[in-house]
Amino acid sequence: MTVQQEQAIDLEALRARYRAERDRRLRPDGNDQYAPLAADRGAGDPWVRGDDDRAPVSDAVDALVVGGGFGGLVAAARFRDAGLERIRVVDAAGDLGGTWYWNRYPGVACDVESYIYLPLLEEVGVMPTRKYAPGEEIRRHAQAIGRRFDLYRDALFRTEVTSLAWDDEAARWTVRTNRGDVVSARYVVISSGPFNRPKLPGIPGIDDFRGHTFHTSRWDYDHTGTDLERLADRRVAVIGTGATAIQVVPHLARTAEQLLVVQRTPSSVDERGDRETDADWWESLEPGWQRTRRENFLALVDGRAAADDLVDDRWTDTAPVRGRRRAGEGREDPALAVELADAEKMTEIRARVDEIVADPGTADALKPWYRQMCKRPTFSDAYLQAFNRPNVTLLDTRGAGVERLTADGLVVDGVEHPVDTIVLATGFELGADPATRAGVDIRGRGGLPLAEYWADGLRTFHGWVSRGFPNLFHLGSTQNAASPNFAHVLEVQAEHVAGVVAEAQRRGDVLVEPTAAAEDRWVATIRERAVDMQDFQAQCTPGYYNFEGRPRRRSEQFGGGPVEFHEVLADWRAHGDHDEVFTSR
Ligand code: NDP
Repeated sequence: MTVQQEQAIDLEALRARYRAERDRRLRPDGNDQYAPLAADRGAGDPWVRGDDDRAPVSDAVDALVVGGGFGGLVAAARFRDAGLERIRVVDAAGDLGGTWYWNRYPGVACDVESYIYLPLLEEVGVMPTRKYAPGEEIRRHAQAIGRRFDLYRDALFRTEVTSLAWDDEAARWTVRTNRGDVVSARYVVISSGPFNRPKLPGIPGIDDFRGHTFHTSRWDYDHTGTDLERLADRRVAVIGTGATAIQVVPHLARTAEQLLVVQRTPSSVDERGDRETDADWWESLEPGWQRTRRENFLALVDGRAAADDLVDDRWTDTAPVRGRRRAGEGREDPALAVELADAEKMTEIRARVDEIVADPGTADALKPWYRQMCKRPTFSDAYLQAFNRPNVTLLDTRGAGVERLTADGLVVDGVEHPVDTIVLATGFELGADPATRAGVDIRGRGGLPLAEYWADGLRTFHGWVSRGFPNLFHLGSTQNAASPNFAHVLEVQAEHVAGVVAEAQRRGDVLVEPTAAAEDRWVATIRERAVDMQDFQAQCTPGYYNFEGRPRRRSEQFGGGPVEFHEVLADWRAHGDHDEVFTSR
């Protein structure tokens, strides 16, 4: 940024503008404004046909994995490598893939580069076709992992785990499901993912609408046609403008007779730069390339210096990454440096809207007025362009959302807009307590519920195991560290857990359970190193990042970030006191 540009940024004015945007979006009902997508409103599985009348299973396995997404799959694959014989993946879906199983809306694709996002590419021997692979290809990759590690043999699909109870005598978990199964498992992994519960906006009159509605994670291809050809004579509305809508809108824009994009808060939309994979480049990659590339990306998004930017996309150019770089230059107070970098980035994002969107009023309404990490950044080279089409209209609700639905359409600011089809790109329930996130009743030693053990905050050793809950492992966001490349952090967690299980197998008669001292030490580290995000989040427009405008003071994340967290795990594996995670039976 030039000196002139820096001087042109009036931080006080910008802060006031951001506050005004936040204020018009804040509402008293917070998370209660949403309703879960219930079975009778289309929460069922559109990707399986017919009943699945299997008899309940009653048997014993070495490991049971709750969740067939990438976290669970990598854990199961590494258990296989560790020599476990019977590994049972259980998932509500009809097949493997997790979020990629459910989300099959037109345009679905990863927006973290596929070469670093897709796990085990080298082992499975797959070349993604594009820099950002389509969802269908990602789903097929999950299935390929399942076949490669023989995970289909014992899997139970269309099945939800309902309870886990520790049986001290047998030193095993008794696992029950909604299909009447009772499985005894030596080890259990929970990797249920953050985005498994679609939510609906609690809009009055939602049941009055006589047209057709569905949620993006349950795309109704019977209604739209495979290529959306049945929308050619329909007036379609999309409610929501988050990461999902950004991918869907260009497809609906090309096919619907009329498309109304109903916006409450605009996303920040940066350049995407998708392209086909260069097969020669792919052939030239040396073994171990994926780990190197992932770690390079992780370091850069964690604000660390690296000789090269191997991925070279806009994730390594977000406001916080720029901010940390600028703070490192020591030109001004670090907080000011971060804020100035943010202002610069968001100025560019808003300028990009003006460059692409022809109609000035529409362009203005599409500009995000908040700091970039208030909401998940998005990347598209087709979303903003869609608003230049004559059949596409932005219906900006100026933070208010849809007022109500009627039999014939939706009402915004007192005006009724008739539509035939409403696509709900309204996201997923988040922020639920991790102890109950998977909807599983978990009881450890002495019948103690995990929800009770964690009532005053999480208690884990390194995020993956808790005292009193032997041989039960958590993957996801539990006292560890996250990154935009969530598949990478899940893989590191899964490999760590499987490594400890391999050692438990070698030791023989032991349980994987941390000592009280080890757990206390990690909980203290989490508290001491916690980064207080409350002040930042309180300035943000509401969304799931700040619990709909009610940020929490206490973070359960490791404050040192993902690179340091991975070093903590590696260091423990190399030099730690391994006795502190094993107890004898
Ligand atoms: P989000 O929660 O991000 O977006 C929901 C959208 O619905 C928001 O724009 C929200 O507005 C809007 N909304 C909710 N209620 C109303 C209402 N009453 N009236 C009008 N608008 C309303 O969900 P997404 O499904 O888009 O994304 C969820 C997450 O999934 C992402 O953050 C991302 O992590 C992941 N994802 C990743 C992708 C990838 O490529 N890797 C692709 C898609 C999703 P407001 O912002 O005002 O609340």
